[in-house]
Amino acid sequence: MNDKLSISQAIKAEALRLGFYVCGITSAHPVGKRESGMLRQWLDKEYHAGLKYMEGHIEKRCDPCLLVEDAKSIICVALNYYPAKKLSKDQLQFAYYAYGKDYHEVMKCKLKSLYDYINNELLPINGRVFCDTAPVLERYWAQQAGLGWIGKHTQLIIPEAGSYFFLGELVVDAELTYDTPVVARCGSCTQCLNACPAQALRDPYVLDCNRCLSYLTIENKGEINAERRKALGNRIYGCDECQKACPWNRFAQPCDNPELQPSEEFMDMRPEDWKNLSVEEYQKLFKGSAVKRAKYDGLIRNIKAVDNK
Ligand code: SF4
Ligand code: SF4
Repeated sequence: MNDKLSISQAIKAEALRLGFYVCGITSAHPVGKRESGMLRQWLDKEYHAGLKYMEGHIEKRCDPCLLVEDAKSIICVALNYYPAKKLSKDQLQFAYYAYGKDYHEVMKCKLKSLYDYINNELLPINGRVFCDTAPVLERYWAQQAGLGWIGKHTQLIIPEAGSYFFLGELVVDAELTYDTPVVARCGSCTQCLNACPAQALRDPYVLDCNRCLSYLTIENKGEINAERRKALGNRIYGCDECQKACPWNRFAQPCDNPELQPSEEFMDMRPEDWKNLSVEEYQKLFKGSAVKRAKYDGLIRNIKAVDNK
């Protein structure tokens, strides 16, 4: 196989076979002035809160050609994580993406398989695999590659499928056939901004991490102040309210990936169980899970904050 179109089609077919919901391809180029300007403004306003790593590697973040030598193409994929079973309203809440195994591991394994398939079956390539692990503007590239558009809540929305997706990329040195960027379809809707319990969406497309419950319960290393505690409700790890409010998520279909399914122990946890959670139980419950990011002390801080509104 040696023509760009056939190779690109074969890559997409393999991506779907591996379980990705969609795959698209765009050329590797520096991001537009608008995107780099928005990123710099966001950093200047310190809306990244304690995410200090966001301040570094701005040039690389704005130009994937600085991440991979002779980069020509970005292959973007999305993996559905919308859960089939959900915690009930009287249980303490976790963001849907955290129900199953750590997505970094699941995504990396599938991306590596896709990379090896291209290299072994289609054409020799050099490149790198990314999934929320390097300075890459993932949602921007997904939009460029025709997967969907960035909604006012700052998540990628896939038409007729919603926003409960993990994103990943292969940046490679081969020229391929490119997809058309998707035009934003939020229109005059503001349901995500209205639904945010913490007013963290300062403006359409502008997230203030200092207020966002997802940041405060996962990445934040400090205490959660009284004002933010009020907004927490019964969420102890992450928040999905802006996504739940989005009308495009009425199209979300439950994922069937066994690695992303929650354990029975997790689904059975009652508020009293969380309050009495020991380190050993935490280790067992979240072995191989992204929840480890908040560490035991972080999760206990959140449980106490919910209890102490
Ligand atoms: S994740 Fe929650 S707190 Fe953060 S912007 Fe969305 S609704 Fe607001
Ligand atoms: S809720 Fe409305 S404005 Fe927000 S992302 Fe969805 S469609 Fe866009």
